[in-house]
Amino acid sequence: MTVGYAESFMKLTCSIQFLALVSTLLPGIGCGSDSPAPTPPASPLATEIAPPSRAHPPDDAPNVLLITVDTLRADRLGVYGYPFDSSPQIDAFSRDAVVFDRGIAASSVTAPSHASMMTSRHTREHTVGWLNGPSRLGADETLAEAFQRAGYLTAGFVGNPLLDRRLGFDLGFDVYDDDLTSGEGRIHFHFERIAEQTSARAFHWLESDAANNDRPVFLWVHYQDPHGPYTPPDAFADHVRINRGPDEQPLPNVEREYSLGGVPPYQQLEGVSYLSEFEQRYANEIAYADHWIGRLLEEFAAFSEDRSERPFVALLTADHGESLGEGFRYFVHGHTTTPEVSHVPFILRAPDIEPGRRRGLVSHVDVKPTLLELAGIETDAPQSGMALGPLLKNGEPLPDRIVYCDIGRELSAYRGDGFVRVRGTEGAWPIPGASPDAPLPLSWKMYRWNDDGSWERSSLDSSLKPPVHRYSRSARSMLQAPPMQVREIDNLRALGYVVGD
Ligand SMILES: [Zn+2]
Repeated sequence: MTVGYAESFMKLTCSIQFLALVSTLLPGIGCGSDSPAPTPPASPLATEIAPPSRAHPPDDAPNVLLITVDTLRADRLGVYGYPFDSSPQIDAFSRDAVVFDRGIAASSVTAPSHASMMTSRHTREHTVGWLNGPSRLGADETLAEAFQRAGYLTAGFVGNPLLDRRLGFDLGFDVYDDDLTSGEGRIHFHFERIAEQTSARAFHWLESDAANNDRPVFLWVHYQDPHGPYTPPDAFADHVRINRGPDEQPLPNVEREYSLGGVPPYQQLEGVSYLSEFEQRYANEIAYADHWIGRLLEEFAAFSEDRSERPFVALLTADHGESLGEGFRYFVHGHTTTPEVSHVPFILRAPDIEPGRRRGLVSHVDVKPTLLELAGIETDAPQSGMALGPLLKNGEPLPDRIVYCDIGRELSAYRGDGFVRVRGTEGAWPIPGASPDAPLPLSWKMYRWNDDGSWERSSLDSSLKPPVHRYSRSARSMLQAPPMQVREIDNLRALGYVVGD
């Protein structure tokens, strides 16, 4: 038995409260993004070795590794100019890779951003939409499904409960490990699996399933560590040291997650109140994840060279950044689409592509076409992004184009070194009860985004208005989401996302 999203939404919202929905719609609750998450139940790994009928890729098909890091601002990495040593491993990886100066997240919310990577569709165009919970992937072929169709062995390992299989992130994976029961546990309602544990699972898979199969592999590993609360392991607590400024004043605690001017509840730590202390803790969470990213890259390279004797492709990005005081917002994301939350690392290593830096905009929607093209896999699924490999191999510049960071009630359209921030766009989403034809009371503000990372108001580029209007009206997600199974609604209820009948 299935229940359509529209039906379930209309029927259930009176009696059922989706915490993720509430957390995203109401400012001040739950990190928009990574809303208070209940402890998930143990979930068995979906282990299913590739059936013999699957296509067999050529012997030179590359192994492919996708690394996503939660809540990682590009400008807190050495390769993007951070003056502290938070990322020696990523910096070393970057020296053999293409570093894109301006990677733009499709959202500042976890599930929507990852859904854009998996589908090459902007937030408004895929079926997860701009929320962290009530609808799922499945309308379009995902990145993993395309790899699986082409004969790859596929596996995904994630550290955030918002990426669990109920949203369809397991589609196309022979092994999808969203079992967080061995993780760090719940801190201020946030549950995560730390990098060491996620890595151990991925290494085991490389040494077992992958090593015992002659197929190329697609491996996705997600690291949760930089996400708040900032609690780096002891071994990394002093890796980066940031001194307190002479005029620095302690930050007050605030009572709501998105209140201005202070530390929100989920980030409050006893005895920690200065911005420099939080900055140091955040940098050391990155340093800890960086250590394990270095180990993963090492393991994957060794596996590719020694065990499967294939070249390999690796792409590292983040789902979104974090406000560290911009606009008097502290240690949150999911509330806006400006560069502190939208500018993410985007680093690609592939055979036959010269390392170096590239200006110009790239986006989460480029992840899927880029990785598939580098693996020689074609797809006829609709895509909003582009394959970057051919441009890089031909030495061509990135094209002038618009990419979106979109959280429903607000989006920013980035083009060149500017962006227009548009508010009031959630009215264009076809949610039950909303008129799709109602005029949108949009607020437009244009900014110039400088090379030093700052941004400042500029005059409106009116040529952006027509494409933004077209895009904001393009929403398909909610009503076209694949039906949820009754057991999935039961699972939501078990996880605490559903309250009532
Ligand atoms: Zn996230």
